[in-house]
Amino acid sequence: MIAQETLFETPTPVADVPQPPVPPKPVVQAEPLGPCAKAGCDEPGVLKSPGGSIYCSKHGYCSRRTCLKSVEKFVMHPRLKIWVCSCVIKLEKECEIDD
Ligand SMILES: [Zn+2]
Ligand SMILES: [Zn+2]
Repeated sequence: MIAQETLFETPTPVADVPQPPVPPKPVVQAEPLGPCAKAGCDEPGVLKSPGGSIYCSKHGYCSRRTCLKSVEKFVMHPRLKIWVCSCVIKLEKECEIDD
């Protein structure tokens, strides 16, 4: 009986094709969005408003210190047609009721 190994002896594959080096994946979790939209700010943007504006971690929030809602939750102002924090609309509504 002939040993099976001798019949199916396959040559070891030669891996002489140079593999392109795989660049290491960046550790940054968020995708690079671009620079902050705030004038004069050159911080990398990490937050994106629904309107498409990019903000850094410092400017990506409602400027009202009592609110500080993320720009990602901003809403379209029905009259001004700009993206604002919902607290702005809420404040305006309250003012309208007062009139
Ligand atoms: Zn900024
Ligand atoms: Zn707000």
